Amino acid sequence: QIPDRPLLEVTGLTKHFGGLKAVDDCSFTVPEGSITGLIGPNGSGKTTVFNLLTDTIRADSGTIVFDGKRLDGTPPWKRAHAGLGRTFQITRLFGEMTVLENVVAVQRSFSVGQLGRIAVSGKEAAAAEELLEFVGMRAFRDQRAHALSYGQQKLVELAQILMLDPKLVLLDEPAGGINPVLIERMGEMIRELNSYGKTFLIVEHNMPFVLGLCDPINVLARGRTMATGTPDEIQRDPAVIDAYLGD
Ligand code: ADP
Repeated sequence: QIPDRPLLEVTGLTKHFGGLKAVDDCSFTVPEGSITGLIGPNGSGKTTVFNLLTDTIRADSGTIVFDGKRLDGTPPWKRAHAGLGRTFQITRLFGEMTVLENVVAVQRSFSVGQLGRIAVSGKEAAAAEELLEFVGMRAFRDQRAHALSYGQQKLVELAQILMLDPKLVLLDEPAGGINPVLIERMGEMIRELNSYGKTFLIVEHNMPFVLGLCDPINVLARGRTMATGTPDEIQRDPAVIDAYLGD
């Protein structure tokens, strides 16, 4: 592994909604092996950037180079196939399926009419169970997903993303809406996965969480990257402090 090799290189990414420039000539990189943060005030374009990366929304312009390949202009399945991971927001649990089935089902594509119980092979079940063990949800494997708490759902969603084994894991607010103990655990799991070589790009509002976990951190303001640096550099940057105080 070459240090600081960019796994993801975004250049000039732009998306207008009518007259509003939600993402405006935005550029940043995600070094391979990093836990990269994407922060910014409300409305600065973070969610739109994630949607542009997964092609949930098509960009107006800009290039996306992932693992040495141009992915801009390609459909979502091609990006997922290349190893550009899905986000918490795109991954959704099927309430009537069990926890285990949900983790297995993420690898398949279905229409809503096909939902119900699915056949799970022994190999799939073993892989899913290992991931449920990792996120601490193995004991819930046979429970229907709708019976889970919000925090438990987030853990299962993390297992779903890992089942796809993406090269880059996109996490949209992994610490959002969960209790402090689980936030702590979420951070530990991300760090552990990173120590095995997994690269992360994380959008998160919880500043202590981001500052303790992410490096580098990219700060968005009005759809553009206004600062990039280590947690220390970001915290000391007057323009960053300004952008947040002005929020
Ligand atoms: P963040 O995630 O940083 O809070 P967003 O990416 O959600 O920011 O939004 C950036 C800007 O784009 C906001 O002004 C928001 O209102 C606008 N926006 C986002 N999605 C749409 C959409 N589908 N249609 C119109 N405007 C949108």
